[in-house]
Formats: sequence, C-alpha cells, structure tokens
Amino acid sequence: MSEAKLTILGCGSAKPTKTTSPSGQLVEMCDKSFLVDCGEGVLLTMQKLGVHTSRLYNIFISHLHGDHCFGLIGLLTTLGMLKRTQPMHIYAQPDLEKLLQPLLDYHANDRQYDIIFHHINPRKHEVIYEDRTVSVETIPLKHGVPTCGFLFKETHRVKHEDGSFTHETRKRYAYYADTQYSEKIVPIIEGVDTLYHESTFLQTDEERSKVVKHSTAAEAAQIAKMAKVCKLILGHYSARVEDHSLFLQEAKPIFENTYLAEENLVFDL
Ligand SMILES: [Zn+2]
Ligand SMILES: [Zn+2]
Repeated sequence: MSEAKLTILGCGSAKPTKTTSPSGQLVEMCDKSFLVDCGEGVLLTMQKLGVHTSRLYNIFISHLHGDHCFGLIGLLTTLGMLKRTQPMHIYAQPDLEKLLQPLLDYHANDRQYDIIFHHINPRKHEVIYEDRTVSVETIPLKHGVPTCGFLFKETHRVKHEDGSFTHETRKRYAYYADTQYSEKIVPIIEGVDTLYHESTFLQTDEERSKVVKHSTAAEAAQIAKMAKVCKLILGHYSARVEDHSLFLQEAKPIFENTYLAEENLVFDL
C-alpha cells in the first residue's frame, strides 16, 4: 500500500497571483484519492501533474467562498467530456447543491455519470465519510460564512491471536480551511501527524485578519503548538504578500517544524 501523501494544487487566497491559485489539495491515503476544495485552476494543476481523475470519487468542500469552489463546474463538466461513468460524491453544505445544480443542468446535462451530494453541517464535528481504511470528520471553524475543515484518518484492522479485531489509527491529517484564531478547535486535532492551517496574513495585518476572519502565520503556529501536532504546513497566502518566506519567519520561532505550501509540492503525511 502506498504512503499517505498531500499534493498542493492551490495555496493562494481569493485573488490568483503569478505563483498561486486558490485552494485545492489532493489527499492520497490507502491507495485512494480525495480532492479537498476546488478553487479556480485546480483542474489545470491536476492535468499538469498527471492526476488521474478516474481514480477520484470524493470531493470535500470546506465553504462556499469562490476561492474554494469556483473550480468545481469546470472540473465536473470536463469529467463529462472525458466520458466518465463512475459516480462522483461531493461533501458540502446544502447550498452548494442549490448553486451548482442549475449550472450542471445547463452545462453538463448530457454527462454519463451521477453526482451525489452529501449535505454536511459545518457547525458540527462528526464523521461524514467512512470506508474500511479511511474516515473523514468535519472540524467546525470560525469564518465569515459557515466553514469547516476536515480530519482524515487512516485506520487499519488488526487481527489478534484470539481471532478478534481492533482498529488502529495510523495517520491523521487535519485541514484548516479559512478560519480566525480559535483555541476551541484544538482538542479535535490534538497530536495529528500533519496540520495544514491557513495563514493569510502577517503580523503587520493582524487587525485586518480579525476583521475578515482569517489567521496570521503566528496564530497558525500557536494552534500547532497547543495541539502538539508533528508538522505544520502554511497556506492560503494573501496576494499582497509576495515573499512567502516571511510567513515561515513568523511561524518558526513559535513552532519549529513548519513548512510552506507551494503549488505542485507533495508532502508525506
Ligand atoms: Zn479562502
Ligand atoms: Zn473564505
């Protein structure tokens, strides 16, 4: 079985720049692929990386700001053109279906595959996906609109000498989409292997960060430290900050094992 991996498909915030496009990630666990958020440009990056969309069955959308879902209609219509027949499952709050359905009816009505919407409640912490080896839980976040992150767990069935089975969790990956600093969420991600935390602003923009309900690099590092995670990845950079190493400079003194997300970069989870 291949190692768990995270591929960054987009790590900018709302406005695309020369080096970043809006949010998107590919999580690979137990030979399965999961798309997390789908901003504009995600399909293009997947094509460049040679990601096989035929192996993709599940998409998770954190919230309905455009930088996290505007790439969906392009992706779903293209899958229709590729003659996809396998169903696609989309996990998102109910409004996404309302917004997307008219576009699908107009642009992708002749598609040969089913799109199955799973309505989630971003205010609740609960399991929304589960198969034999992977489960996904929502992480309620604090943002201007209902938003949740996702906690991916790789689990394995262990057979004991007496013939009984237990489940053991091997890897845990937490994705914090857009959020302001919130210590309340820390217990959910205690000790995870990898935490991706949005880091839209630097300390100089701390006030603005509070107003628009985002986090600074230092705040992301503080959450990583409190939750005792193994590794922190920063992303969702403001278009106004060209030099991303500044985010690292602010985070590292608080949480040393911090890395910067960059498009096309692959992390071991
Ligand atoms: Zn965003
Ligand atoms: Zn947002």
